[in-house]
Amino acid sequence: MELVTPADAGITFDVAEDGASYLENARKKAEAGRRLSGLPTLADDSGLEVPLLDGRPGVESAYFAGADHKGDGPALVAALLKALGSAATSSPPAFFKSAAVLALPDGRIFTGEGVLAGTIAAAPRGTHGFGFDPIFLRQDPVEVLRASFQYLSRRRGLQRFVTRQRLTASLAYRFVAGDHLDDAVRVVTDINRRGWSASLDHLGENVAEEKAARAATEDYLAAFERIATERLNANVSVKLTQLGLDISPDLCRELLSRILERAHQLDNFVRIDMEGSAYTQRTLDLVLALHERYPNCGVVLQSYLYRTVDDIARANAASVGVRLVKGAYKEPADVAFAKKAEVDAKFETEMQQLLLHGVYPAIATHDERLIEATRQFAREREIPTDRFEFQMLYGIRRDLQDRLLREGYRVRIYVPYGTEWYPYLMRRLAERPANLLFIVRSLIRERRAA
Ligand SMILES: Cc1cc2nc3c(=O)[nH]c(=O)nc-3n(C[C@H](O)[C@H](O)[C@H](O)COP(=O)(O)OP(=O)(O)OC[C@H]3O[C@@H](n4cnc5c(N)ncnc54)[C@H](O)[C@@H]3O)c2cc1C
Repeated sequence: MELVTPADAGITFDVAEDGASYLENARKKAEAGRRLSGLPTLADDSGLEVPLLDGRPGVESAYFAGADHKGDGPALVAALLKALGSAATSSPPAFFKSAAVLALPDGRIFTGEGVLAGTIAAAPRGTHGFGFDPIFLRQDPVEVLRASFQYLSRRRGLQRFVTRQRLTASLAYRFVAGDHLDDAVRVVTDINRRGWSASLDHLGENVAEEKAARAATEDYLAAFERIATERLNANVSVKLTQLGLDISPDLCRELLSRILERAHQLDNFVRIDMEGSAYTQRTLDLVLALHERYPNCGVVLQSYLYRTVDDIARANAASVGVRLVKGAYKEPADVAFAKKAEVDAKFETEMQQLLLHGVYPAIATHDERLIEATRQFAREREIPTDRFEFQMLYGIRRDLQDRLLREGYRVRIYVPYGTEWYPYLMRRLAERPANLLFIVRSLIRERRAA
């Protein structure tokens, strides 16, 4: 078999690459070549997709610098760096996608597609590149996916688009109890029946209007009523930006106080979730201030932050209960460790700090090594199993949740519910991009079986 270019075969053609996908463009080119040459024709199309630019340049990559500069490498690179602006220096994730089509003279068509994950370099590198090559650096796909999901969790503009997709919706319900309080009550009833306790999270964060913050407060008050009437073994977890922290600290304090007051009357407990590092100080200050009046509240601290050792000391001194987590937000290097080994090592020492000096700490992780380290430390120091609890997220590592319970440990399951699941889902995907693959595969299997 000999491979020839269109020029070798004596044909010239210029196909309009106006298809909606790489595959469509590649097919148009392959079919045009076959028609003109009568030979089996292989054609491709490719493009670069940058999540930070909502997927652009995408299928129009060749035209990104304008029709006059179609395929002009240096012009394309300059246009992309300009579109990214200052974000170009933060190694934004990108995906190089390509499709190839083989069109045979008998009319048969064969197709293939591929994706390379990478990041965008702040300046061109190398000398033999084509198109965007000089600024596309291939990277570990898992790291790129992680960075992409962390980025998506902050892009509320994409929320409506993503939540309308059936695939992402079915993905969400692996981690979320359902849209309504009734769904959460059903899930918690089952969780309690199996022996675990629960913490209800009515999904929502970064609300921009007072009305939404007040509505979220009413939702939490309703949740406490249901917990009481259905005699559920459950407390609630609340995010301060859901109670208007971005709008006004006074509003947030007022709404949180209402929730704490009702929880106090019903002898229940409120855990204040921890959000991005911009909120850490304000969250901790508010919890410490309100804890004096409402001892039925506790806070979450994240071991990836450098400051957490000191925050734990502060919480312990004030007898404020802490849930220790690794941390789920994208944080800059000047406030947080990025490497898993460093975060894990810090989690371990902070777990010990809490078990020794904290008030009923919650060790919230699915990391088997850290769970074993906790068990071992508690055994060595003769800390009884009713002096702390493990916590895990709904839908993650049920096997581990089961095992700990059977071994006599207290386990609480964090149960999110509501329609505002977009940022929550993106954070779960960022923690483990393989979730996406796993769930896509199982959906395909389910569809085949149906
Ligand atoms: C009860 C609870 C409450 C939390 N509250 C907060 C909070 O208020 N603020 C905050 O920043 N973070 C919070 N988190 C999230 C936390 O910070 C981590 O991002 C999350 O728990 C993943 O870290 P890990 O400790 O499980 O360890 P990892 O090292 O990330 O994971 C260890 C193992 O757990 C399993 N696993 C972990 N995550 C997933 C996943 N998404 N899907 C499937 N498997 C997974 C995998 O088997 C993985 O190998 C909370 C976590 C829990 C369990």
